[in-house]
Amino acid sequence: MFLTINQVNKQYENQGIVNQVLSDINVTINEGEFVSILGPSGCGKSTLLSMVAGLNKPTSGEISLQGNPIKKPGKDRGMVFQQPALFPWMSVEENVMFPLRKEMSKSQAREVAHGFLKMVQLSNYTKHSPHELSGGMQQRVAIARALAMNPEVLLMDEPFGALDEQTRSRLHVELEKIWLETKKTILFVTHSIQESIKLSDRILVMGTRPGVILEDIKVDLPRPRSNSREQAIELEKRILGLLEKEIEKVVKEELEYASSN
Ligand code: ADP
Repeated sequence: MFLTINQVNKQYENQGIVNQVLSDINVTINEGEFVSILGPSGCGKSTLLSMVAGLNKPTSGEISLQGNPIKKPGKDRGMVFQQPALFPWMSVEENVMFPLRKEMSKSQAREVAHGFLKMVQLSNYTKHSPHELSGGMQQRVAIARALAMNPEVLLMDEPFGALDEQTRSRLHVELEKIWLETKKTILFVTHSIQESIKLSDRILVMGTRPGVILEDIKVDLPRPRSNSREQAIELEKRILGLLEKEIEKVVKEELEYASSN
């Protein structure tokens, strides 16, 4: 078993009030799988991913990668956030070289960086500053930087959430290509049903209050996928059916909160 999330619970405590965010999460992910975590806003997707990253700890339970319990961030896990978080004073290539600075010589790091920048189709932008690039291009730099560390797992937290629809679908194609080429295990947080169907081998559909895994859905559709094919539409309807109740729960709670204030 490659990545295991075993009986994980997470509570946050605020002024004596305990918020049970995740309840009894059990998942096993195989090496090379592309797995999406899908659910309504606030169901605990980012919390779960940040615990796999080692940025946050479960209240109980354990997460292990290749048999090693995760206690803190490590080079075996590369992270890509919704905002690319590049260093603005560094060039594109320097940003990708940065995590490699202690591992190898500068010229080796440059070579590795250029390899991954080629993979994300930014070979012509190595000397540019991040601010000279579009949002989608910046996100591709962030992906190249995460891959340059050669992690075992790529953890992506709504990486395309801030991008326009067209850029998003171009990056879907690119990410799928990168995944097929590198055979990396990818754990991908999204609230888009279509995005999860387009990309994943498996979709972990989450419910909320507290966050639980409602269903672990295997997506057997041939790649590259189109969201307009009949089977994709069927799957989308099925997932929407699962999530509708959860979204209703959130809306109801928000309305109750609004009327009590
Ligand atoms: P999602 O990624 O699905 O939108 P999150 O994991 O960001 O959900 O948040 C899940 C719940 O945990 C939310 O109710 C949020 O307010 C709460 N939460 C997240 N981080 C913290 C924190 N550091 N302290 C207290 N509560 C938090």
